Amino acid sequence: MSNEQTLSIVKPDAVERNLVEDIKNIFIKNSLNIIDSKKIHITKDEASEFYKVHQSKPFYNDLCAYLSSGPIVVMIENAILANRKLMGATNPKEAEENTIRKLYGISIDKNSVHGSDSLENAKKEIEFFFKN
Ligand code: UDP
Ligand code: MG
Repeated sequence: MSNEQTLSIVKPDAVERNLVEDIKNIFIKNSLNIIDSKKIHITKDEASEFYKVHQSKPFYNDLCAYLSSGPIVVMIENAILANRKLMGATNPKEAEENTIRKLYGISIDKNSVHGSDSLENAKKEIEFFFKN
């Protein structure tokens, strides 16, 4: 069995709307294990460090302000691609039916969830939130 891990985040828009349990249940029902989970509220500096890969993008500043705007739930799950498939496309308008972003995303920025996009980034992102 694979011991691959990914970092999953329920973003502020979804925590605020009390969607954490609904979102966790979608992952669990689709055979993902939630290995660890915690609710935190990060600073803008921490968000800027986390989203460093996007620092050249026009949306970087707003994205970091947004991720630090309220509590988030960070989770470790056990499959990168399965997590990304269940999240759906970055823009909720383009996401497939029954994906988390289609069901709950508000807009391309307030799209309810984050999931690591590769093994390499998953390792870094888990380290960022779960190791001191
Ligand atoms: N984002 C945004 N505007 C854009 C593209 C992305 O605000 O035009 C935000 C959105 O919240 C997205 C995050 O930046 O989830 C990271 O972007 P990425 O391209 O990595 O999308 P993801 O991997 O989250 O689907
Ligand atoms: Mg990404």
